[in-house]
Amino acid sequence: MSRPDTRTDDEPVPAYEEVDVSVLVVGAGAAGARAAIELDDRGVEDVLVLGKRNHGDAHTTWARGGINGALGTHDPEDDWTIHAADTLNEGHFVNDPEKVETVAKQMPERLRELDEWGMDYSRTDDGEIDQRFFGAQSFRRTAFAGDHTGESLLETLVEQAQDRSIPYRENVMITKLVSDGEQLHGAIGYDMDTGEFVLFNTGTVVLAAGGYAAIYGRHTSRDDENNGDGPALAVDAGASLMDMEFVQFHPTGMAVDEDDPEWEPWSGRLVTEAVRGEGGRLYNSEGERFMERYSPDQMELDARDVVARAIAQEVSEGRGTENGGVYLDISHRDADFIEERLPRMYERFQDLGVDMAEEPVEVAPTSHYGMGGVSVDEYGETDVDGLFAIGETMAGVHGANRLGGNSLAETVAYGVVAGERIAPRVDGPGEVPDSLVESLIEPHFQDLAATANSDGGYAVETVFEAVQEFTWEHAGLLRDEESLRAGLDALDDVREMAADMAVGSVTSRSFELALDVGFMLTAAEAVLRGALERTESRGAHYRTDYPETDESWQRNICFERADLGGLTTHTEPVDEPSDAVQTALEEGHELDYHQLE
Ligand SMILES: Cc1cc2nc3c(=O)[nH]c(=O)nc-3n(C[C@H](O)[C@H](O)[C@H](O)COP(=O)(O)OP(=O)(O)OC[C@H]3O[C@@H](n4cnc5c(N)ncnc54)[C@H](O)[C@@H]3O)c2cc1C
Repeated sequence: MSRPDTRTDDEPVPAYEEVDVSVLVVGAGAAGARAAIELDDRGVEDVLVLGKRNHGDAHTTWARGGINGALGTHDPEDDWTIHAADTLNEGHFVNDPEKVETVAKQMPERLRELDEWGMDYSRTDDGEIDQRFFGAQSFRRTAFAGDHTGESLLETLVEQAQDRSIPYRENVMITKLVSDGEQLHGAIGYDMDTGEFVLFNTGTVVLAAGGYAAIYGRHTSRDDENNGDGPALAVDAGASLMDMEFVQFHPTGMAVDEDDPEWEPWSGRLVTEAVRGEGGRLYNSEGERFMERYSPDQMELDARDVVARAIAQEVSEGRGTENGGVYLDISHRDADFIEERLPRMYERFQDLGVDMAEEPVEVAPTSHYGMGGVSVDEYGETDVDGLFAIGETMAGVHGANRLGGNSLAETVAYGVVAGERIAPRVDGPGEVPDSLVESLIEPHFQDLAATANSDGGYAVETVFEAVQEFTWEHAGLLRDEESLRAGLDALDDVREMAADMAVGSVTSRSFELALDVGFMLTAAEAVLRGALERTESRGAHYRTDYPETDESWQRNICFERADLGGLTTHTEPVDEPSDAVQTALEEGHELDYHQLE
């Protein structure tokens, strides 16, 4: 159906397509795909999944290492309560225990289900799903498919969705949710191929749009993903965000000469922890194996946040390399060993003219994962009726730091939980109230039309990079009050630049990036405000002016849209874990740092 232009004054409302759906799933990574399958299996007709890319092409494909679930393949003493206890420990006890327990309880069944659906797991000699150690876990709990776990997971889910004929719309970007602040009524977007504007009439939206780690200059995400679309869309619609200040910096991203066009695209890309797991050593520019000073027992194999902070400290004290990193050296191993154990890494550096068997590579911390996101209840529903957020878009499971392998777990577990919750409630697409057509929908289409082909003083790429720069500089790994306040000032300056951008047509890349800039600014504001308010250090959040953990801060910071623009905050206490998980915590299972991947 198409709604014709209705205005004849200076700013006509552009024509837009209308699509009626019972449930719209925004995002087709593991979380969105799994939610759609659950909805279909529970008899919901008329589910539509969409994403900014082709079907099967989502950030999930970049996950390599594995997915957690207490199957006990090698360690039968493992169970879901210990998985939950490890998750709370690593999250420094600001995770929501109920959500943690939901994921930990679900996962053994979810892993077996994926097996039945044909996931290409690595197996033991007996044909069982193999499981390996991952950092900070008490037992071997991480199932994997070689070093392509995310790819295999998404392929499996996409195949299941296609078997069920669940409709998928490729290359559609959602730019706004239709909400009166209490109730969800739809979503607005545009077709990135044709430039056509679209209104989705629906009473239920599942936001599975990924995270916000790419608001930082150096990051491990794919380009143009993880820009904070999910959190920004949700908070604009009247939902709350939570824990946005907790950003996991992976210790070893590639540190490169950013002026060199051959190397620049590799900036921040992950150098797998397995390099350290296989014996890689870290040296500063003075040739010191500096982990001796920070973690003499665990050395390079300590937890991600400890190693990342040590590297950042070395660089900030002038012992870094020219490219702002340190050296990671595994040249004491021979080429055959490295090629066999670290094939993808070896090949990547070989292609760039570096032989890891002969020389070190340069690494620096890189933004990897935002633990925060949209605040939801135990079923994944936000404060806005009918708006759900799952997967990396939601907050609550990871607290102040994420256990490796838990994010893929969260995607499938919460896909199922949200699907179960939504299915009995869905009753057709619902109606968009006329008042919202005039007050919200038409003005938004006018805004989109005005953004396209607009003249302005700044190239969109310049503004995009400016956001990433101030976020990296002011809300990075080492934070303090002065720098965070300066970051908020920089945010205001960049907002002004963003209001004066030169943007191409609706189908141009600059149009997509211009919309991304808006989402990134919201996510960056939340990170800065949360980091400033949290006057302690906890997990991945490190304040150099408050280096200790403060028990009175065992609270979550929540963010809401302010009436006059920007965000306001308040804090909430954290709930207690169940007795079963409390017992597992008291048993004090030893966290095993000796093998990372
Ligand atoms: C390098 C790397 C390695 C990792 N390895 C692991 C690992 O080994 N184990 C683990 O557990 N986790 C790992 N993670 C994290 C894990 O990959 C992600 O958390 C997880 O895949 C997120 O899945 P998702 O379905 O929530 O979102 P995504 O896979 O990010 O999918 C988001 C979807 O939303 C769509 N979308 C976004 N914005 C919009 C919009 N505005 N309109 C329409 N569609 C939109 C996208 O097109 C996409 O389809 C890794 C992350 C990185 C960066």
